Amino acid sequence: MPIVVQKYGGTSVGTPERIQNVARRVLETHNAGSSLVVVVSAMSGVTDSLIKLARQVSGRPTDRELDVLLATGEQTTIALTAMAINAMGGKAISLTGAQAGIITDGIHTKAKIANVSPRQIRKHLSDGCICIVAGFQGQTLQGQITTLGRGGSDLTAIAIAAGLKAQNCEIYTDVDGVYTCDPRIVPNARKIEVIAYDEMLEMASSGSKVMQSRSVEFAKKFKVPFEVRSSFNTNRGTIVKEETPGLENVVVRGVSIERGQAKVTITNVPDKPGAASRIFTALAEAGVIIDVIVQNISTSGSTDISFTMNRDELEKMGQALDSVVKEIGAGKIVKQDGIAKLSVVGIGMRSHSGVAARLFEALGKGGVNIQMISTSEIKIAVIIEEAKIVEAANLAHEAFNLSQA
Ligand code: ADP
Ligand code: ASP
Ligand code: MG
Repeated sequence: MPIVVQKYGGTSVGTPERIQNVARRVLETHNAGSSLVVVVSAMSGVTDSLIKLARQVSGRPTDRELDVLLATGEQTTIALTAMAINAMGGKAISLTGAQAGIITDGIHTKAKIANVSPRQIRKHLSDGCICIVAGFQGQTLQGQITTLGRGGSDLTAIAIAAGLKAQNCEIYTDVDGVYTCDPRIVPNARKIEVIAYDEMLEMASSGSKVMQSRSVEFAKKFKVPFEVRSSFNTNRGTIVKEETPGLENVVVRGVSIERGQAKVTITNVPDKPGAASRIFTALAEAGVIIDVIVQNISTSGSTDISFTMNRDELEKMGQALDSVVKEIGAGKIVKQDGIAKLSVVGIGMRSHSGVAARLFEALGKGGVNIQMISTSEIKIAVIIEEAKIVEAANLAHEAFNLSQA
């Protein structure tokens, strides 16, 4: 029997009725003749509420205890989903991440999957059982509970599909597939039929959170094609797979936005070897993730260095850099909140020119000021004022005619 892995996200299992809807869909696939592993997320809002609860009892909950707490969200859903299927006459069993053989490293709250050993899953499948697996969680070799970073149920599904060499991996969510931009931001965004791993990865890591970026990285590495579909209808979704020559004909596949960014400028950094290294080593040691970096031209022996980062890490950044800035004899740290990033992504950019010009013209005509620019082989990203991000996404979408097939 072919093995199918399905993943249902938080909204899809957000109420008892929706869990019953998932149970019906799962039974249909099973009755059509597939062995089925179903990965589920916590019911929508549950992970956020658990994080809030933790903050109510502790200013600084430890990552280990956070993982023990957060893993309970998915554990509730596996039991409820298995119960719903059993109540409909099916045969289902719930498995935690550990029982499903998800072995991770020990980096609590953002653990990496080191190995998948789906022995128990295989046994239950061969008994004709539907396995309902808790997404987002795993266990270290020492038996500690870990979680895989926000949105991590996507990663669980892809890792299990790779481990079982499943025929199909289907990610069910609350949209029909991957769109040319988040349909909540650009109302006339269009569903993409096929997208290459690299494009999905760039979109996911620049704000299109329809897929967790680490899960796409994993899918690319282990060559797991998957389909993103809606759990509320039976429409075909978006296939994410290896690049094929035809895919390169489209220059821009999609537009992503990322809000909640901040820009930091260190003024008057001495223009000497090692200065940038001191700054960015201190940030790395503090675990602050830096995105776009720009260094201005040097005037009279010093220069300004600007970088962007998540707004929530501003305090950590300040603690890491206050003393370094003094030690290297730089000026001051200027923080600017209310920044966002807009990215246009497409593998066709490798072989087509003029993409940057078209994007900058559209933003310029729309009165959107570009503060920083960063590029990769298949992406052009600009840093702009957050208040203009929705307008800018619509302008970029329009400039590349993305609403037309
Ligand atoms: P789930 O809980 O099923 O994992 P998510 O909330 O993580 O679902 O992802 C689905 C959401 O992703 C959609 O509701 C949509 O608003 C958002 N999204 C962002 N970018 C895109 C995009 N390019 N295409 C489709 N959805 C997107
Ligand atoms: N429940 C987790 C989260 O909210 C994992 C997931 O939904 O994929 O991030
Ligand atoms: Mg998700």
